[in-house]
Amino acid sequence: MSSSAIEAIDREHPALSRLPPWTLEKLSPNAVRLIKQVHHFVETECIPAEPIFKAQLEQYGRWKSPPLIRELRGKAKEAGLFNLFLPKTFGHLSPGLTNLEYSCCAEIMGRCYWAAQTMNCHAPDTGNMELLAKYCNEEQKEKWLMPLLRGETYSAYSMTEPDKATSDATNIACRITRDPNDPETLIINGRKLYGNCKWNDELGFYILMACSDPDNPDPWKRHSTVIVPKDTPGFRMIRNLTIMGYDHAPDGHGEYIYENARVPAKNIILGEGRAFEIAQGRLGPGRIHHCMRLIGQTERAYELALIRATDPRKKPRGKLIGEFDSNIERLANMRLRLDSLRLVVLNAAHTMDVYGNKAGRYAIAQSKILVPEMAVKIIDECMQMYGGQGLTQHSPLPEMWTYARFVRIADGPDAAHRHQVGRDELKTASRIKKRHDEYRKTCDELCQKWKVKIDTRDSHL
Ligand SMILES: Cc1cc2nc3c(=O)[nH]c(=O)nc-3n(C[C@H](O)[C@H](O)[C@H](O)COP(=O)(O)OP(=O)(O)OC[C@H]3O[C@@H](n4cnc5c(N)ncnc54)[C@H](O)[C@@H]3O)c2cc1C
Repeated sequence: MSSSAIEAIDREHPALSRLPPWTLEKLSPNAVRLIKQVHHFVETECIPAEPIFKAQLEQYGRWKSPPLIRELRGKAKEAGLFNLFLPKTFGHLSPGLTNLEYSCCAEIMGRCYWAAQTMNCHAPDTGNMELLAKYCNEEQKEKWLMPLLRGETYSAYSMTEPDKATSDATNIACRITRDPNDPETLIINGRKLYGNCKWNDELGFYILMACSDPDNPDPWKRHSTVIVPKDTPGFRMIRNLTIMGYDHAPDGHGEYIYENARVPAKNIILGEGRAFEIAQGRLGPGRIHHCMRLIGQTERAYELALIRATDPRKKPRGKLIGEFDSNIERLANMRLRLDSLRLVVLNAAHTMDVYGNKAGRYAIAQSKILVPEMAVKIIDECMQMYGGQGLTQHSPLPEMWTYARFVRIADGPDAAHRHQVGRDELKTASRIKKRHDEYRKTCDELCQKWKVKIDTRDSHL
């Protein structure tokens, strides 16, 4: 797209104004239309309704989807804003956005914590739908994927365990065996932590990763992925987990016990022992959706700081908060960081579009490490500028901070991503050493040519 074509898409529009030119020039007219539409929906239907969402949780029960959400899901569907996350590679199921184009929508959705849900673009369902679309047979897709895509039910993902280091998934111990009297039935025993709360009346099923062949010499073939319907006998939720004090109703996070839970063997996805193939495939776009939305949340925190900085009712020592040099610098630093985080996530999305999800591994890890870490710091600074009220329920800043903090752990701790990046870096050392050896060889030749006497054996060029 030429620069005049970029002008034609109205780059001053608030939905587009923070996007760099290299992104704008890659947006299709359809994507530009959708990005603007998502922006309008979030700004007019979602953000102003945030207090209504909270009031309805009290009014109708914390584990029921508030009527507001049901209504907005209907409106979003009608407006063609459903399932925007599903990448182009999914053919007719996808609305046709590239990862880059969707990431622009996701940032806007993130401005309101629950807006993504109104557009069926929320975690863990996005990752689950991708997984089901990619690995299920036709019968399974009809039964489990299609109701999710139509927005008729929700799903959960269940991998983490309380007494194992499950960020290394080879440790997953929850056990799947076949019933000796009926090999077409699986029996599941074990404990799981996290996975959405069973009490939510719209939740339909869990996608469980568990150990089906502990003695297999290949540790990557010991586990299977299986669909567990919510009402399976022997599958119990002990309690809802709070995240730093928040119950995250009406979705929540459960702590679970499987005691001889029985599930049909036809609920295994892709085949027994193939959970790691599936987990690899799930490492795609779903991994950066949280990051994209978190940038939207952080932008909103930043807006609150700007409003506070210019609030005429708040004048310590007779000056606006924003008139102190330290706060002017603070605001500048936050803006610079926010804009650089956006570049990192857009780059990860574009890398996946151009080279595929696997080759995008580094760019994805880069987003997963940098975005939550930096967002925590930015929102913390916003609270500091806001003063005491910013730590109370008078402002959404504490919930925003908690969101940023939990993204450092959810979907894999940042330490594990760093570990992977560091290990990959170490693998480059021998190639780099070879190049440096070449520098020295050339330097020796240059010494001869210019008759310079240097012993280069111990010097590092
Ligand atoms: C809000 C929220 C929602 C979640 N939702 C779900 C869900 O829907 N389904 C689900 O299954 N799980 C979910 N989780 C759990 C989350 O995915 C796991 O907690 C996470 O993957 C880490 O696994 P673990 O708790 O077993 O940590 P462990 O594997 O025990 O790791 C503990 C710590 O060890 C360190 N560590 C681990 N690996 C390395 C390494 N390679 N190098 C250096 N240090 C390392 C890190 O500091 C890490 O935090 C959720 C978590 C949160 C906070």
